[in-house]
Parts: sequence; structure tokens; C-alpha cells
Amino acid sequence: MEERIVQPPASPLKTALAQFDAAADRLHLNEGMRAILRTCKRELAVHFPVKMDDGSIRVFSGYRVHHNLARGSAKGGIRYHLAVNLDEIRALAMWMTWKSAVVNIPCGGAKGGVVVNPKALSHSELESLTRRYATEISILIGPNEDIPAPDMGTDGRVMAWIMDTISMHRGYTEAGVVTGKPVSVGGTLGRQEATGRGILYVVQEAARQYGVALEGATVAVQGYGNVGAVAASLLSRAGARVVAVSDSSGGVHNGQGLKIDALSRLKREGAALVQAPDGDHVTNEELLTLPVDFLVPAALENQITAANAADLRARFVIEGANGPTTPEADAILHNKGIIVVPDILANAGGVIVSYFEWVQDLQLYFWEEDEVNERLHRVLTRAYRDVARIAQEEKVSLREAAMLLAVRRVVEATKVRGIYP
Ligand code: NAD
Repeated sequence: MEERIVQPPASPLKTALAQFDAAADRLHLNEGMRAILRTCKRELAVHFPVKMDDGSIRVFSGYRVHHNLARGSAKGGIRYHLAVNLDEIRALAMWMTWKSAVVNIPCGGAKGGVVVNPKALSHSELESLTRRYATEISILIGPNEDIPAPDMGTDGRVMAWIMDTISMHRGYTEAGVVTGKPVSVGGTLGRQEATGRGILYVVQEAARQYGVALEGATVAVQGYGNVGAVAASLLSRAGARVVAVSDSSGGVHNGQGLKIDALSRLKREGAALVQAPDGDHVTNEELLTLPVDFLVPAALENQITAANAADLRARFVIEGANGPTTPEADAILHNKGIIVVPDILANAGGVIVSYFEWVQDLQLYFWEEDEVNERLHRVLTRAYRDVARIAQEEKVSLREAAMLLAVRRVVEATKVRGIYP
């Protein structure tokens, strides 16, 4: 297959606002309420020095943004990526507000990030950067105020450093200040797999609703990190045939089904997926247009755009990543009859189990893994069915239905609380 020209990425904030405006129109929101919900209530930009291993000093930039806290404390991940910018973090914070609302957990929306390629730093440089960033944003974060979690480029190790940094400042262990921590320091069983497991539950619900057998259904997954790799593994264990996966280096394709455990081993050893022996190489663009039952974009925003949406041949798009589909592409997919399960529902497993972790930290009482998974299943399945029902009643897409439900809940909380003072 020949290489295609990749379009410059659209703005995730434009996507998030367009999605909100469509819901606001349907709900006939007044100008005041629209203005509240279109705006992030608090935005912190930080620029801070880090001593590198060779003795030099580098200044890094980071952000922490709160979109809306009407339904509870701020909750949202921290991303380490070179493309991080304030507008992207605003969009991601806004999606967190809707995500918590659609699955009905009592959290507001937040997001943070640092402009950095974490793979280019040594272990000690990453730790210094994390501890300094945590200190810079410590004026916002805390178990009652704002509880970060992992996102792209961050993991349990980074969360443990943030927790330790805040605990050192306070003089006591503050486990509830972040989620996604290792289990040894107050993390919950099931968190690491939660987003990918949520994708499995959502695929099962979509398959049930549309009468598709999961056994033998074909799957392609773009992005092979915390979300994509776990989703690929659980879907293949549930009987689906995962025929293509990719990471930032590109992907592998095998129509007979890939050996996911072997690919995950390869990744753990530090290799790229394109080095896998048991399939043909595909580019990330090609992977998106494979004829599969379920396409799971689980990497970055703006992967399915007006430039490639018409070429998609999947029956379902299950949005593992945040904002992988632009509004223009959404309309094209809708016209083609492709069912899109939106990010704020499909990848909500992460924030749901983060919420469970926070509850356990506050109570100092920890649950068994099957209890975590059962509760996740219950919350996510109910949310999927609520959204599917609204989609049918209102004759709208699952994304529009999810947005209607989420925005309605946030509006309700805002009205009940009133405008201070
Ligand atoms: P990660 O860093 O663990 O993995 C990201 C993966 O995407 C890696 O395999 C990377 O190689 C790949 N990738 C990066 N750029 C790519 C590109 N241009 N094309 C194809 N692949 C590319 O990140 P993650 O935590 O799995 O997050 C992935 C997405 O899921 C993000 O949009 C994130 O916001 C979203 N998300 C994550 C969670 C979570 O719990 N981690 C929860 C909800 C949503």
C-alpha cells in the first residue's frame, strides 16, 4: 500500500467545543450556561528548571487545567508528550467533565501535561522533572481538590513519585492525591487494566445491541500502550481475532489473528511492533482503513479526519483514545453507517477505577480485584445502556446521546448549586 499524506492535526479544543455546542443546541441551553460550560474554570501554566544528568539545566513547560467542578473534585490524567499544549489540555479537561458525568461518578473534569518526550530522559531526569512539576502544581492538587492519574507517557511509577512528593511536603502519606499508583503504595487492583477492560465491556455491549458475535469478530487496534495493549489482549482472550495492532513506529497485520501475548512480550523487551516476526507491516494510516468489525483507535487525538474517514471499512469504531475522531469525520462515519462508541463512554473504565482507587484510599480499605472488575462492569454497562436508550429515543448517534446525558447532568448540578455569590 502506498504512503498517504497525513493532514496537519485539527485542534482538539475545536472538536470538544463543536461536540458541546451540538449538545447545547439540542438542550436549548441559554447563553449564560453555554458560557460557563465552554470555559475552563482554572488554568495553571508552569515553567520550571530540571537539572539534567550531564549537569546542564533545561526549562520545561507544563499545565494543569480544571474545566468544571460542579459534580465533584477535579479528576483527570497527566500527559507527558512533545505535542502537549494549553488548548489540548483544555479539551482533555472538558472531555473529563463529560466522561465522569456520563458514567455518573462524582468528579469534575481536569487534565495536566508536560511538554516532553519521556523516552528521551533518563530515569533520574524523569524523576526530577516529575517531582518538580508535582511541586509546581501542588497549589491545585490534593485528595479533596484535584486528583491526577496517568495518561499518555506517564504510568504508576510517575504517580508514585507525585504521591511521594506531595507527602514529603505535607509530612504524612497522602495516598489519595493521585490514582493509578502501584498497589504497594495505595493503588487499587485492576487499575492498570481498567481502561482496556472497559473497552472490552463496551465492545461486548455494542456486540449484544447490534447482534454481532464477539467470537471470531475481527479487531484492529491503533496504539499499543496502557489502553491499546490491554484492550487487544482482553479482546483476543474473549474470542475476538485481533488482526492488526500498531505503535508510533507503525503496525503489524495478520489476517489469521496476531499472537498478542508474544507481541506484548516483544514490547516489554523494548522492541517496536514493526520488528514483530509474525505479520505484514502496515502504517498507522493503513491500519485505520482495514476491513474489520471493531476498530479501536487508542493512541492520539485527530486520527480519523475528513481526509481518511471515507476510507474506513470497520463496522464499529470504539474510541480508546480521547478525541480520535474530528466532527467532520464523525459525520462521514455516521453517513456510512459506521457505529462510533465515543471516547467519553468507551475509555471511561480508567476514570471509573481511578474513582474506586480514591474511595479506597480515603477509607484505607482495599477491595479484591474481582470486586473492582464487577463494579466497573456494572457502572460501565449501565452507562452504555443509558446512552443507547437516549440514542434510540432521540434518534441521534451514541456520541450525541452521551453528550446529551453528560451535559444535562452537569447543567443540573450547576443549576442546583447556583452561581456564587
Ligand atoms: P501510552 O503512552 O501507554 O500508549 C500510547 C501508545 O500510542 C503507544 O503504543 C505509542 O507508541 C502509540 N502512539 C503514539 N503516537 C502514535 C501515533 N502517531 N500513531 C500510532 N500510535 C501512536 O498511552 P495510553 O495511556 O495508552 O493512552 C492512549 C490514549 O488513551 C490517549 O488518548 C489517552 O488520553 C487515552 N486514555 C488513556 C487512559 C488511561 O487510563 N491510560 C484512560 C482514558 C483515555
